[in-house]
This record gives sequence, C-alpha cells and structure tokens, in this order.
Amino acid sequence: MSTLNILPNGPEQAPRARLPKWLKRPLPTPGMAYTDEVISDLKLETVCESAKCPNRTECWSHKTATLMILGDVCTRPCGFCSIKKGKTEALQLDEPERVAEAALRLGLKYVVITSVTRDDLDDGGAEHWAKCVEAVRDKTGAAVEVLTPDFRGNRDAIATVVNSRPDVYNHNTETVPRLYHRVRRNSDYQRTLDLLTQVKEMDPNMPTKSGLMMGLGETWEEVLEVCADLRSVGCDILTLGQYLQPTLDHLPVERFLPPEEFDEIGDEIRKLGFKLVASGPFVRSSYHAGEMAEVLGRDDLK
Ligand code: SF4
Repeated sequence: MSTLNILPNGPEQAPRARLPKWLKRPLPTPGMAYTDEVISDLKLETVCESAKCPNRTECWSHKTATLMILGDVCTRPCGFCSIKKGKTEALQLDEPERVAEAALRLGLKYVVITSVTRDDLDDGGAEHWAKCVEAVRDKTGAAVEVLTPDFRGNRDAIATVVNSRPDVYNHNTETVPRLYHRVRRNSDYQRTLDLLTQVKEMDPNMPTKSGLMMGLGETWEEVLEVCADLRSVGCDILTLGQYLQPTLDHLPVERFLPPEEFDEIGDEIRKLGFKLVASGPFVRSSYHAGEMAEVLGRDDLK
C-alpha cells in the first residue's frame, strides 16, 4: 500500500497548514553547497533530503548530514514520511566505503546513519549496517549513531548491528500507540520497546535513544506514558520535535506546538530520568550533536 492513499486527492484535499512564525529557517551559507557537492559526488542518499527535513539549510551549512543507506526506497507505508515506497534495489556493496569517505570529507566527528526499512531482505540489511558503522569508524575515528528500523524484531539482525559497536543506538518510536495505525502502519509499538530492551540486554553500556513527533493528535498524557515506557526499557536519550507535513499526500499537522510548550513538556519528561531530553519545534534525531557528546562523555566530539 502506498502513502499516496492517506488523503483524498483533488479538490477535497486538505489544505496545508500555514507555518507559524517560530518555524522560519535560516538562509543557506557556502558550507551548504560543499555538503551538497560531497553527497552528490559520492552518490549517497540522505534523510535530510528524502524526508524533506526543515533543518537541512542549517545542518548542511554546518557540513552535517544524516546519511541514509540501503537505497532510497522503503518497504513500509508510514503516513508521515516522504521517502519513496515501492520496488527496492540491490544493495550497493561499495556503500560502506562511500559513507566513510563522506564522513571524512565533511570532517564529521559524530556521524548519524539511518536507513530505509528493508523488509524484503532476510536480515533487514543488518550486515550492511554493520559494515557501514565499521567503515566510518576505521576511516575517520568518528563516533557513530545508528538510527535503525525495527528489523521486524529479528534478534540476530539487531545483534549484528550492536556487535558493530555504534556509540549510540537510536530507534524512533515516532508517535503514541493509539496513532500507530495511521502514522506508522505495519509497525508495532511493543516491537519498538522490545528492540530497545534487546539492545540493552546485548550491551548494557550502549546508550539508547528514541524520538517522538508532536502535532499528530497525541495528548500530553499519552506522550508521557510513552516516555515512561521508554525509561522502563532503559532508554537514555529522547528527542521530541514538531511534525511537519512533507507533502499534501501525507498526514496533516493537527497542531503546531509553540516553543514554550516544548520546553514545558521537555521539563516533565526530564523528571522521568533520561540522561538527555532535547525538546523543541526543530528537534530531530540528528540535531544537537554537541549534546550527544555530553552524554557520551566524549569532549573530543564537541
Ligand atoms: S536534523 Fe538531521 S535529518 Fe534534518 S537536516 Fe539535520 S542532519 Fe539532516
């Protein structure tokens, strides 16, 4: 099923909500062109572009990008995500080397890698994931954060990624369980919690991280319940950001939360004992790498 069926087409299509003033973004700087050049030259995909991230100007201007591996076509029909759906392509065996080369050319000390979901592969792409983590570390010495799919709960696949020793293991919850059928179809809330549990079982010292989007119709109570669940499985880091509708074919924004509300709910969530909570309209998984460094206790990454 494609995300193109989420909203009716034609004249009945819901109009896109006008952005409030706090969602204005900065103008590009020359660094952005350099990042663009590196990504294009190495024929890499980024979630910054594929998911139409609102922070691209800022991050790319600072020569930071989140590299997306395993192709640009996803096998899950999430209602919030603009990454292409459909027929996937064969793995590119030289991708780990190209990812590492990009990290080197961009001078990254903290590299965030993510991927499309590859339910068509037996291991969900886990081995390829591990090769990418190892290639980046071997070539650059950078810390690596992995933002993985759920691998359909396949313990061996999760272990393959954990055994490649990323510095942070991230898996996004995205939304509250009541909204999974609209927002994260074909995914399962409990499976997400189980994945984070398994990572801690395999390596109790590996920091785990998850993220939620706000503005899809969730209530504060529901968000706090999810955060309590995440803490109960040992999740260390939480990101909370505003959902933005990538195209008219995707789920509409139910509500724009003002920055003060992000501060307020962030304070409530901190009481649950996370090591770091980043909460704000523009917060995304790969935003605020300096704070990641703080959590990891690695001053060299700042
Ligand atoms: S926040 Fe992450 S996905 Fe968005 S532009 Fe920055 S690096 Fe890319």
